[in-house]
Amino acid sequence: MKNIVILGSNFAGFTAALRLARKLKRKRDEFKITVVSPSRDFLYVPSLIWVPFGRRKINDIKFDLRPLFIKNNIEFIQKAAERVDPDNNVVILPDNEKLKYDYLVVATGVKMNFDIIKGLRPEDNMIQNIVIPKLANKTLNAFEELVKDPGPVIVGATQSASCMGAAYEYLFNMDKELRTRKVRDKVTLYWITPEPYLGNFGIDGMPGGEGMLKMFMKLYNIKWIVDASIETIEEDKIILKSGEVLPYKMAMLMPPFEGADVMKRSKKLVDAKGFVETNAAYQSIYYDNVFAAGLAVKVAPPFEIKNTPFGVPKTGYPSDVTGKIVAENIFRLITGKKKMVEKEWGRIPALCVMDAGRKEVYLVANHLFKPRQFAIMLPNIFNDFGKVLLEKYFLWKNRHGYAWLP
Ligand SMILES: Cc1cc2nc3c(=O)[nH]c(=O)nc-3n(C[C@H](O)[C@H](O)[C@H](O)COP(=O)(O)OP(=O)(O)OC[C@H]3O[C@@H](n4cnc5c(N)ncnc54)[C@H](O)[C@@H]3O)c2cc1C
Repeated sequence: MKNIVILGSNFAGFTAALRLARKLKRKRDEFKITVVSPSRDFLYVPSLIWVPFGRRKINDIKFDLRPLFIKNNIEFIQKAAERVDPDNNVVILPDNEKLKYDYLVVATGVKMNFDIIKGLRPEDNMIQNIVIPKLANKTLNAFEELVKDPGPVIVGATQSASCMGAAYEYLFNMDKELRTRKVRDKVTLYWITPEPYLGNFGIDGMPGGEGMLKMFMKLYNIKWIVDASIETIEEDKIILKSGEVLPYKMAMLMPPFEGADVMKRSKKLVDAKGFVETNAAYQSIYYDNVFAAGLAVKVAPPFEIKNTPFGVPKTGYPSDVTGKIVAENIFRLITGKKKMVEKEWGRIPALCVMDAGRKEVYLVANHLFKPRQFAIMLPNIFNDFGKVLLEKYFLWKNRHGYAWLP
């Protein structure tokens, strides 16, 4: 019996696990699939932008994965792995428990680097965050306080951040909700970003993107600062390296991402930031039986960053695609095939919906990174129905275990 171990159970890990279970259905006696994850729930992370405004509760955007794992003959261990020892093909679990693998998939997502600026940590109680449920709920409380006693609001991303798209969405929803609550005229709204221009998104922009973002900023009366690097965070103001002082009553900043702790401790597989170094088949460049998918993969920016540093976003669609690719490649190794499926991260199509408050923008391109033969940003100025539909589709697809669907 050979063991396939998957670390992580969200977009990338869940997709890889279900795809492998389907592909190996006829070889059930020969292979055992085990998923290790601290969370038994699938969480639709993109909808966290709505939690601070009460439009979604965490329970609306998650579901229990265990029945699906049972149905698909996948063992589930609800624990946070501590380390991988790739020389001995072993995952170390808490209490030094050892889990042997023949093939390993790393899909452990990221950890936020709050140490980049003093005062950014949640326990400092100054800056809000929307990346994990607990902090998105805390941001909901801060928003309610703001509505009672309005003042300046700062939204943005720190230097070296990579998830600017979600921060843009939160910004436009902040504007919309302040209008709905009839206090928008009492709030000066700032957007600060390390991007060299609006709508760069860490993918070197999209045709017409900068103009469209500028139009939204003007339309919603949002002040913006690009190429922004934060020097200090104080209780009531943020000071930029340029010397500019921005007062705030409420602020939300997207921090930089690094590899999860488990991977930072697995030094033979990762770069200095804890991201798994792979080839275009998402196979470790050091160990042939180790693969990685989703946020855990190291992706270098395909362009030169001249001023304030920022990173490349790793969105849901490529996380899903890389989950499928690693499942296929492990299947190929198992069945003795030499040729692997290869698709560099930047060559995966871009498919994204950006919520812009009461509007939305569809981003579609044949490649995430340039050169692209086709790239378009299409606004829907009437509603944000597309983002809602995508959420419903993803939750439906995953709840039913249809991981083979796009
Ligand atoms: C606020 C926000 C909004 C976003 N909006 C969008 C959007 O609109 N569109 C889009 O395409 N993308 C969006 N993204 C990005 C998208 O959420 C990610 O691309 C996606 O979640 C990546 O999936 P993943 O499986 O790689 O990582 P994650 O979803 O982060 O999953 C990581 C998994 O690893 C597990 N794990 C962690 N530590 C361990 C451990 N020690 N051992 C075992 N398992 C572990 C976790 O429990 C989890 O199951 C957004 C992200 C954020 C933060």
